[in-house]
Amino acid sequence: MRVVLDADLCQGHAECELAAPEVFSVPRRGAVDVLADEPPAALSGAVREAVRNCPTRALRLED
Ligand code: SF4
Repeated sequence: MRVVLDADLCQGHAECELAAPEVFSVPRRGAVDVLADEPPAALSGAVREAVRNCPTRALRLED
């Protein structure tokens, strides 16, 4: 699983960080920092939830 971010769409809502703080870190300003763009399988549920919850659809997953 690979996390792909479209930084132009990210508005810093931090829903992703709420769902998977091990993978997403949102600064006070600017786009999210993806800490692990190939997260371990143990986090895949949390990462899927993060992608689902992103209100601007800035995140997507590739296999
Ligand atoms: S939830 Fe979406 S818009 Fe919000 S910080 Fe994460 S990637 Fe950016």
